[in-house]
Amino acid sequence: MSKGQAAPILLVALGGNALIKKGQEGTIAQQFANLQEPIAQIARLSRDHRVIITHGNGPQVGNLLLQQECCQDVPRLPLEILVAQTQGQIGYMIESSLDNQFMALGLEVFKPLVSLISYVVVDGHDPAFANPDKPIGPVLSGEQAAGAAYPVMHTAKGWRRAVASPQPISIVEKREIKRLIGMDFIVICCGGGGIPVVRQGRHFAGVDAVIDKDLASARLGLEVGVEVFCMATDVPGAALDYGQPGERFLDSLSLDETRRYLEQGQFHPGSMGPKVRAALMFLEGGGQRALICSTQEIEAALAGKAGTHFHL
Ligand code: ADP
Ligand code: MG
Repeated sequence: MSKGQAAPILLVALGGNALIKKGQEGTIAQQFANLQEPIAQIARLSRDHRVIITHGNGPQVGNLLLQQECCQDVPRLPLEILVAQTQGQIGYMIESSLDNQFMALGLEVFKPLVSLISYVVVDGHDPAFANPDKPIGPVLSGEQAAGAAYPVMHTAKGWRRAVASPQPISIVEKREIKRLIGMDFIVICCGGGGIPVVRQGRHFAGVDAVIDKDLASARLGLEVGVEVFCMATDVPGAALDYGQPGERFLDSLSLDETRRYLEQGQFHPGSMGPKVRAALMFLEGGGQRALICSTQEIEAALAGKAGTHFHL
């Protein structure tokens, strides 16, 4: 890169497995250990990229909800507060892991870090509010489900709390994030898809909902002018006939192919679907490069050697 030219902005959306792998209990020691691999790659990539990191929070919020179920002695906290808590705890773990990696790489590459509590505006009339379809929190007994003060749904695991998952409209802190990126801070934000808020006159009010972190990341990417939008998860990319005998992972997808496969239901609506739709949203909105890869292959994917790449 020539002197004076700003480094491209890379947004990495870290999937749940960056912190807790399938089958793990999810202790803090495990979460720190799991973070090492993706964060080491991001630290190296920060040498020639300006970096934004977003992340999921499903199991972390789930555990906080479970803690509340287990203790009647303190007031219950609404979901917006729990999401804010997880942004703090995961932001801390990512910052501390990045710091360690910078130490290992040598202090000359150290970049300033900041974790930002982030709000994301949703529409109070989003149709999702009439149809809460995102399961969260612990599995409930039939009795608990029948007496629950909130909507519940039956999932493969059993009864769980159901919340609405509205579309992200705008990231409230987009100007702050842009300025920090301009100053070459690594910004950790929009954790768990952000704290969902609705506009009420001149201020914002939190709502009981969760926003998909990949869709929120795509929106953030467009609002901040990200060049590369990378969703890192626990599979090598998007596959056709996933989990079936003819399964094949895709190297690249045009927007037309992406729309066609989405229509065919190739990408599960609760997992790969939102990632593919986020890639589509990013490119349709004017973004240049979106990809889905495994958390082990972030650098390889950026070099074009792994992952599923979306192109116009
Ligand atoms: P994250 O926490 O990274 O967002 P998700 O569980 O939401 O992870 O999404 C990744 C999962 O998507 C994979 O573990 C895989 O089981 C599932 N999946 C569903 N359909 C597909 C598909 N067509 N191709 C690849 N993975 C798929
Ligand atoms: Mg997901």
